[in-house]
Amino acid sequence: MTEITYHQKHGQGRECVITRRACFSASHLYWLPELSAQENHDKFGKCALSPGHGHNYELIVSMQGILNEDGMILNLSEVKHAIREQVTNQIDFRYLNETWPEFDVSNPEGCLPTTEALVQSIWKKLKPHIPVVSLRLYEHERLWTDYCGNNMETYLTIRKHFAAAHRLAREELSKKENENIYGKCARPHGHGHNYFLDITVKGEINARTGMICDLTALENLVEELVIEPFDHSFLNKDIPYFKTCVPTAENIALYIADSLGEPIKGIGAILHKVKLQESPNNAAEVYPNINSIESRREDLEKVIKN
Ligand SMILES: [Zn+2]
Ligand SMILES: [Zn+2]
Repeated sequence: MTEITYHQKHGQGRECVITRRACFSASHLYWLPELSAQENHDKFGKCALSPGHGHNYELIVSMQGILNEDGMILNLSEVKHAIREQVTNQIDFRYLNETWPEFDVSNPEGCLPTTEALVQSIWKKLKPHIPVVSLRLYEHERLWTDYCGNNMETYLTIRKHFAAAHRLAREELSKKENENIYGKCARPHGHGHNYFLDITVKGEINARTGMICDLTALENLVEELVIEPFDHSFLNKDIPYFKTCVPTAENIALYIADSLGEPIKGIGAILHKVKLQESPNNAAEVYPNINSIESRREDLEKVIKN
């Protein structure tokens, strides 16, 4: 057994990331004065319906620093105070279009208060006060954005659900061999899961629409290419690709990434991550634009250090 030696009391001088959660409710309306009523409705759908609609937002603030002699990177009361003063006191129970000047679209420089634009504004308010390294802002549990202070670059995630059956077995192997590899999952008539699929795209926020891509177009792509064919199917029989490829969570995530990569480029964003949650106990993640696990680690370290 390795003996742990504590060189410093209370971890003083060592690095740590802490997170703090804050909630607020606010409303918004997507409407640009330079577009006609029809164009606004075509572009923003229900989000253009007057006088707007609201969300219960959840904000996760990650901060990095060196532990002081009290065993903290900073006092949590300072963090709470900064989040309250700089963010929630200003926008909780408010109509976002009329809160911060950057959301005043009567000004040609103004931008719609989308979740992507909002997370970027929150970053600017918090950064001078606390050592924030990343922010996550949930509009609801099926849509959130991540921001690391990298100019206009933002990550947008949508969560989808489908139910499907599969059987894990390789055709060329015997029943016994398959059972040795896949256990109960190799039983001949298959079994099912309620899958949760998180699709994360990366892109630059448009300075006017506040969006990294057309959300409706993204939702439609995932719906058409994944959810519609996969939902209530037996993957091994209903999806031609899985007639010859074992539909493990890993293979399904890779197939989804391969199916969505190019179409997502077509709507102006980059597919950053596909996460497929097969059960509460297992999930598979694929990063199609990062070549190896090593470079993904370096990428994450860069993001955290900046
Ligand atoms: Zn909304
Ligand atoms: Zn299974």
